Amino acid sequence: MDFTVSEKMKTVLRMIDTFMRKEVFPFEASFFRHEFKELLPELEEKRNKVRQMGLWGPNYPEELGGMGLNLVEHGLISESLGRSPLGHYLFGTQAPDAGNIEILHLFGTDEQKEKYLKPLVKGEIRSCFAMTEVNTAGSNPLLMEGTAVKDGGDYILNGHKWYTTGADGASFAIAMMVTNPNASPAMRTSMIIVPCDNPGFNLIRNISIMGEKGSDYNSHGEVMFQSCRVSQKNLLGKEGHGFKLAQERLGPGRIHHCMRWLGICNRSLELMCERANERVIEVDGRKLADKEVIQNWVAECAAEIQAARLMTLSAAWSIDNLGMNKSRDEVSMIKFVVANTMQKVIDRALQVHGGLGMSDDTILAYFYRHERGARIYDGADEVHKASLGKRILRNYKKSSQK
Ligand SMILES: Cc1cc2nc3c(=O)[nH]c(=O)nc-3n(C[C@H](O)[C@H](O)[C@H](O)COP(=O)(O)OP(=O)(O)OC[C@H]3O[C@@H](n4cnc5c(N)ncnc54)[C@H](O)[C@@H]3O)c2cc1C
Repeated sequence: MDFTVSEKMKTVLRMIDTFMRKEVFPFEASFFRHEFKELLPELEEKRNKVRQMGLWGPNYPEELGGMGLNLVEHGLISESLGRSPLGHYLFGTQAPDAGNIEILHLFGTDEQKEKYLKPLVKGEIRSCFAMTEVNTAGSNPLLMEGTAVKDGGDYILNGHKWYTTGADGASFAIAMMVTNPNASPAMRTSMIIVPCDNPGFNLIRNISIMGEKGSDYNSHGEVMFQSCRVSQKNLLGKEGHGFKLAQERLGPGRIHHCMRWLGICNRSLELMCERANERVIEVDGRKLADKEVIQNWVAECAAEIQAARLMTLSAAWSIDNLGMNKSRDEVSMIKFVVANTMQKVIDRALQVHGGLGMSDDTILAYFYRHERGARIYDGADEVHKASLGKRILRNYKKSSQK
């Protein structure tokens, strides 16, 4: 297993680090004071600087103008960008657009690529992904109820979705709907592209999450598809292949998320250490950093971040070199290990900051609120543990029967 970073990548990572420290971290204060929507012009200026540096969409394939990186390299970039909630957006590689770009690239028709993929890659438009429903358990997508029924050359979509991230301001949604109710469970659904200005696509609200509704990209929408008519040309991939396409997003998407979370861990640990080194806690001038409990927390966090990081890079290497099928266990493991490591590191960093940690004067409270969801989205901890546990037990059953 080789995680050596090429000279070219080292230069790219240095450029990203400089940009993050000079242009992004200082801008976070505005991000707290204003709605995301209000900041769009300033964000676009920063995106233009990224474009001028030649670092736009670094994870995309070369034919789409990206850098043609492998997953380990992609992960290292995601880690660096993840240190700020604005990082991925400013480099044009934010979820769910990154995943949508991948499936459009792999499965889109020429017409779909021209109309949706091209402007999406350039960052001229945004998209969203509508799968989770209000009334059925997202943990078991086989329960999905939203339908797309054929009518002439069209589909008519009806369904009640939520947690459609970034629906506010998106140009189109990729909707997961039941098209083949009588097929085998894995073949019941399809992905269909729905322009958001379709009169049957209704954004009901941005859901208030831990006290924040957000706006535009920084929001999660509740969406009703009401007799929403779209051409059958908007089917993405083959009919009944919705879950198959979702699986395609899985590997790269998971590395992207986990390395982003590790970026959050690194930033939180950095803030924790800086605060502990400067905060005087005793009359004789001793600081928080002199307390054994804080030294223990710092050591534990650093060790757990390192363990989670190596697991994630190993999973990335495995997908690159052995393929997704042989990497399934590692990909399941990193999801819950990294999400829980992140939650612990953010919590400790916040504790070290005391009242300052609870305020929005540092990024920690934002991380604390927004990243709790990591243990739920993209498969809840319990679901990943159950399926991994079952696979491991099955393997032992086979070997004991040999
Ligand atoms: C911030 C955020 C962003 C999201 N973005 C998107 C998006 O862009 N598009 C989209 O379609 N969806 C999105 N989601 C939705 C997300 O994918 C679902 O919330 C997730 O799949 C869980 O589904 P659910 O909320 O219906 O919980 P449920 O399925 O009702 O599960 C509730 C809880 O039950 C437990 N549980 C579930 N199954 C099992 C089991 N088999 N064994 C033991 N315990 C179990 C888990 O603790 C789980 O948290 C997002 C969610 C969040 C929080």
